[in-house]
Amino acid sequence: MNELLKKIEEISGQNLFSCYQCGKCSAGCPMVNEMDILPNQVIRLAQIGLSEKALNSKTIWLCASCYTCEVRCPRGVDLAKVMEALRQIILRQRGKIFTDIEKIPKKEIEELPQMCLISNFRKTT
Ligand code: SF4
Ligand code: SF4
Repeated sequence: MNELLKKIEEISGQNLFSCYQCGKCSAGCPMVNEMDILPNQVIRLAQIGLSEKALNSKTIWLCASCYTCEVRCPRGVDLAKVMEALRQIILRQRGKIFTDIEKIPKKEIEELPQMCLISNFRKTT
């Protein structure tokens, strides 16, 4: 098994080969219109050894961790945990990153989903 795939499965606790690409996760995802690759494609890329492409996508940062995909998945795949694993891998590669709330433009604070800001602060403050 590809090392990156192994790491994603280890951090997320999910078996990515349980996914049979039905697309129900993407069909219910509230952020899908903003994403550059679909949530089910994140898993597919990992399955075929192209996790790097998923790691470099906007999608993993736009996921709001709402767990809709997990609830809809007929195979019990918790895609929100997979997205979180991918974010963790990037953050670990980059080393310590801190977010200074004072430096976030006021407009962004007003417009970004609260969940996005909270998730960021949990990781980077
Ligand atoms: S809903 Fe589950 S099985 Fe279907 S594509 Fe998404 S992760 Fe895979
Ligand atoms: S947890 Fe992320 S990928 Fe899943 S439905 Fe919510 S926003 Fe979409």
